[in-house]
Amino acid sequence: MPSNDQPVPFTADDYRARMTRAAESADAAGLAGVLVAPGPDMVHLTGYRPTADTERLTLLVLRAGHEPVLVVPALEAADAARAVGAPALTLRDWTDAANPYTLTAGLLHAKGRFGISDNAWALHLLALRKLLPDTSYASLTEALPMLRAVKDTAELERLAAAGAAADATYEEILKVRFSGRRESDVAADLAALLTEHGHSQVDFTVVGSGPNGANPHHEAGARTIEQGDMVVLDFGGLMHGYGSDTSRTVHVGEPTAEEQRVHDVVREAQDAGCKAVRPGAACQDVDRAARAVITEFGYGERFIHRTGHGIGVTTHEPPYMIEGEEQPLVPGMCFSVEPGIYLPGRFGVRIEDIVTVTGNGGRRLNTTARELAVVE
Ligand code: ZN
Ligand code: ZN
Ligand code: ZN
Repeated sequence: MPSNDQPVPFTADDYRARMTRAAESADAAGLAGVLVAPGPDMVHLTGYRPTADTERLTLLVLRAGHEPVLVVPALEAADAARAVGAPALTLRDWTDAANPYTLTAGLLHAKGRFGISDNAWALHLLALRKLLPDTSYASLTEALPMLRAVKDTAELERLAAAGAAADATYEEILKVRFSGRRESDVAADLAALLTEHGHSQVDFTVVGSGPNGANPHHEAGARTIEQGDMVVLDFGGLMHGYGSDTSRTVHVGEPTAEEQRVHDVVREAQDAGCKAVRPGAACQDVDRAARAVITEFGYGERFIHRTGHGIGVTTHEPPYMIEGEEQPLVPGMCFSVEPGIYLPGRFGVRIEDIVTVTGNGGRRLNTTARELAVVE
């Protein structure tokens, strides 16, 4: 799918299948059901994006063997009914004169442990718990971490298109001037290019030049980029509702031998991480493969974050490629492989591709050159 084409829209049946799968996996995990708040879970399961997530309760209730029910404020019911997934669920609206918690409590059947969206309002959760003392609640990310992790063909198509748009952005940023401009200027270029290539939302545009590159959380600031700087670029956002996230590190002018060596180590580590991706391997195997290379070259202490995170309707979600995560990789999962080396006060290097698990290995959704590029 070329980056400017519209993908085939999701249908009510797609959402129905997702809701059924969520209810069944909750049941298999010993949960009485799933409570879904406005946000990424609701977008994924119903296609519904309320215009505002307010103190008025909007909640999707999923229970195995029951019709999905969306509890929604009356004044938003018409909007909710227009969501693509609406035909696959029952709408229960409530007016300001009514108590939405009594209505919702009636749907939960009084007992059991429920998974609830991480971003649900505490206000709502506390009200439900008060009405139903025999219920308990677990973060959906902890109870069903793989709920959104395995992407279907239509989702993979969107992720690939977002990746291609991010790649086109990188190819073009190599042609702009770095030296003498502020990080924030290059960040603005990145944002404009992502938008031009079809992104509807830009989530981050990291430009970490010189010593700023050694701080993985640095976004972009007023520092003027100089000749001789390493510059970490890390950018992404949403396109057709799915995320992109890629990093490359470039150098202004010719790099020193040390800069080239550190970059080579990260590139080899990133390659090793990608090669460790195959069905049945554990998430932590990807982290270990990348980390082993960096450790072997003596920079183990300078690789100060996990190797990767899942991506889908958000740019950071499970599964996480981190020591201790034994979740096996399954075809259709999509996540980043992004090792880095950070030398405080000097420079940093990070290389990141989104990778999807295939039947017999992994496929990169970012395919731009990973060699250290020289910019002006
Ligand atoms: Zn340099
Ligand atoms: Zn990134
Ligand atoms: Zn990332």
